[in-house]
Amino acid sequence: MRLRNKVALVTGAASGIGREIASAYVREGAKVALADLDLDAALAAARAIDPAGAQTLPLAMDVTDEEQVEAGSARAIQTLGGLDILVSNAGIQIVSPLVDFPFAQWKKMLAVHLDGAFLTTRAAMRHMMGHGGGSIIYMGSVHSKLASKLKAPYVTAKHGLLGLARTVAREGAEHGIRANVICPGFVMTPLVEKQIPEQAREFGISEQEVIEKIMLKDTVDQQFTTLADVAEAAIFFASFQSAALTGQSLLVSHGWAME
Ligand code: NAD
Repeated sequence: MRLRNKVALVTGAASGIGREIASAYVREGAKVALADLDLDAALAAARAIDPAGAQTLPLAMDVTDEEQVEAGSARAIQTLGGLDILVSNAGIQIVSPLVDFPFAQWKKMLAVHLDGAFLTTRAAMRHMMGHGGGSIIYMGSVHSKLASKLKAPYVTAKHGLLGLARTVAREGAEHGIRANVICPGFVMTPLVEKQIPEQAREFGISEQEVIEKIMLKDTVDQQFTTLADVAEAAIFFASFQSAALTGQSLLVSHGWAME
């Protein structure tokens, strides 16, 4: 078990990638706080992952709300006995041409992805600095590296996470805190399922064409990235032993983007 005696807080853990990471971390021996806007779904995820309830703590947390992040992080630290790993993963997607993007939606996107990353990072760092350090992992995207049409705030926010991770790597180093970014390609989760009909409508093509001509067009093998692929990268970053691996980003995308 690669995460024995570790405590993790995963945001957006009630669904998709966050839920899979929470599950993988529990399998690897960690205690995990599953933080999500949707408490009922977080409770259900925790029950499914850990029926005995010994290794999980479902938490209601809107990552854009300073008080909720502070209170939820404090509760995780107190209940689970510390905090060694933060996975800042909560995210949403809103697609629209930039010229039609409502300002309120732009701000909502940046708030969930960037304010959420900042607030959870600050809470985690304040604890980690006095307790031997830790690993902070951001859920970036291939859109941290390149752009697609209709996704102006998503691409902007995901690029921004690279800057945040690099800054945390610098400021955290002397306290044993590492920060890295996982950049997945398309993974079939509710966030992506919702986009397929939306993009088909915007571009006037079929849903199959959205998958083949947009989502998987530039992969080496026309495959979706899986939840398990992303969870494995999250275990790798969390369990790495030294600061040789900090301030980095890892593409997990079937070669959609290469560097
Ligand atoms: P998902 O919709 O399955 O899960 C997202 C979770 O985040 C949900 O449980 C939702 O309730 C929660 N959430 C949303 N807003 C929140 C908030 N303000 N506070 C707390 N929780 C909130 O989506 P997913 O595909 O698993 O996405 C997870 C992350 O992975 C996102 O950051 C997304 O941008 C990123 N990502 C996804 C893909 C993909 O193809 N699915 C690819 C690259 C990156």
